[in-house]
Amino acid sequence: MAQRKLPEGLHPQTLAVRQAVQRSQYGENSEALYLTSGYVQSSAESQALRFAGEEEGDTYGRSGNPTVRSMEQRLAAMEGTQACMATSSGMSAIMLMCFSLLKAGDHVVFSQSMFGSTIKLIGSEFARFGVESTIVPQTDLDAWRTAVRPNTRLLFAETPTNPLGEVCDMAALAEIAHQANALLAVDNCFATPALQRPVDYGADIVMHSGTKYLDGQGRVMAGALCASEQLVIEKFLPVQKNSGMVLSPFNAWVVLKGLETLDLRMRAQSALALQVAQWLEQQPAVARVYYPGLASHPQHALAMRQMNGLGGAVLSFDVKAGNPEQARARAFHVLDALQVLSLCTNLGDTKSLLTHPASTSHGKLSEAQRQAAGIGQGLVRLAVGLEHIDDIKADLLRGLSTLT
Ligand SMILES: *Cc1c(COP(=O)(O)O)cnc(C)c1O
Repeated sequence: MAQRKLPEGLHPQTLAVRQAVQRSQYGENSEALYLTSGYVQSSAESQALRFAGEEEGDTYGRSGNPTVRSMEQRLAAMEGTQACMATSSGMSAIMLMCFSLLKAGDHVVFSQSMFGSTIKLIGSEFARFGVESTIVPQTDLDAWRTAVRPNTRLLFAETPTNPLGEVCDMAALAEIAHQANALLAVDNCFATPALQRPVDYGADIVMHSGTKYLDGQGRVMAGALCASEQLVIEKFLPVQKNSGMVLSPFNAWVVLKGLETLDLRMRAQSALALQVAQWLEQQPAVARVYYPGLASHPQHALAMRQMNGLGGAVLSFDVKAGNPEQARARAFHVLDALQVLSLCTNLGDTKSLLTHPASTSHGKLSEAQRQAAGIGQGLVRLAVGLEHIDDIKADLLRGLSTLT
């Protein structure tokens, strides 16, 4: 189904509420949810043409759905890319990207601070199929540069990272990638297009977990790859069609509606996160706060330049402790004392969510890998939602003020 015809030059905020496929004959104002796995064909001849790719039109749910296309078109418009391919989750987006672009003998460079499952998927699972990889420190540009080899096809960065908010210089990474004839992919989960558009800095692929801020209310799992038409149509589409990592229409519809408020939510939640981060820095039980929006953050200037002057909505903090065992007990004490905020390993929700990375998202990494990523037992991650600032502080204080 064709794109809705809109005038040229509309702003991302407008496209976020307007870009979609054409309305049906009923003229619905809110985009329709097409829950169907198959499509009735008008004639055998037309069906044959559609299967041959010579006529536009849907045939089967694994190959396309108008609701999913609305979401893809909207997200592409917001990211400033020609096209987008939705997937069933963020990890399946990474799976699709790697499956589409890599073969045995190819090499990937990615950061040690990336999402735990990303490190496992590329560093371990794809290694079984002969894909080589080098893991580098997130912020060390020289390490990225020297890791590149003649067989390097892909540099994959996440900025800011989970859970420490480490930022990397996307323009510099794009230059390193392109000099080596490789592609730069950026996991834009934490910043979202409301704060940064990686293609503006030269990235070739923008990867999303739609499960996070794109949905924004913690309802569905989703993922996406935003890129050029050439990459999406020639590389991702054939693999997607045959592998079935497709996004369900219902989940696509939820994300589609979530995108309408993304800009507002990211601004409000980032502003709140900054207030919480500044307050946490003053708390005697807190050793250190990690948040790109704080002046104390090592890449604060770069983050502000790349992220539209905002730090995002995720921060982490270390509780003060003498040793790892005590640190773990103290972090657990803070989490167990919560009465309002959720103990929940997710982020990107209007509800504030807290978790203990060392025993959850990064629990399957070896202690050495965790140390390298700087994730100690006393670290608590807080994804700030939309509650009142005073209630957030009071809930955190329940545990923090009783630490001994
Ligand atoms: C959650 C997350 C993913 C994985 O997405 P899923 O939708 O959970 O599969 C990848 N990268 C980052 C940064 C994430 O936070």
